Amino acid sequence: MSDQTLTIALSKGRIFKDTLPLLAHAGIEPVDDPETSRKLILDTNREDVKLVIIRASDVPTYVQYGAAELGVAGKDVLMEHGGEGLYEPVDLKIARCRLMVAGLPDAGHGSRRMRIATKYVNATRAWFAAQGRQVEIIKLYGSMELAPIVGLADRIVDVVDTGNTLKANGLVPMDHIADISSRLIVNKAAMKMKHQRIREFIRLIEEAVANHHPA
Ligand code: AMP
Repeated sequence: MSDQTLTIALSKGRIFKDTLPLLAHAGIEPVDDPETSRKLILDTNREDVKLVIIRASDVPTYVQYGAAELGVAGKDVLMEHGGEGLYEPVDLKIARCRLMVAGLPDAGHGSRRMRIATKYVNATRAWFAAQGRQVEIIKLYGSMELAPIVGLADRIVDVVDTGNTLKANGLVPMDHIADISSRLIVNKAAMKMKHQRIREFIRLIEEAVANHHPA
């Protein structure tokens, strides 16, 4: 990418939809719609701003390595990634939910170690370790709610919004691990090299968030 270009990494769906009005406030509008386009790099109305559309869990990695100077990632994804090489200057207050432990009501696990199914392996290990609880973690890539039902795990750790998905599968929320929302992230080196440009972008995004969530 040329020295003048700012590349912003985003995922499709909820984050893209909720980030659009914030970008619009910063004078940035995509030319293509990622939901209908197969392009992975979207042009914007600004010659010097590109959007790359990638998996949510890959956003911190692209920004960490400077393939994108900026990105939008859920706090859940950032907790799991670890945040190395990144600044996290703005809570965008979008895509809010909670990272929770859930399970079948009244389910015991006898004398063996409790088994936890999750895609958030690192965040889960850290949280249970902080509680002084030794657990066995089973990595899954989706449909975590199924694991307790079929006896794969005693509990799950997943993000919960309305709780309808848990309820529909007979699960109940148990422990609250963290409040989640999407964050603006910035590559640390880019923050030094393109300081003015990125500071101004951050200022506009902060202003947009404040307009959406008046104090
Ligand atoms: P719920 O509203 O709790 O039934 O959530 C529906 C599904 O969407 C759940 O399986 C969650 O994993 C997922 N989900 C809810 N909110 C978010 C969010 N802010 N970011 C990512 N995934 C979410």
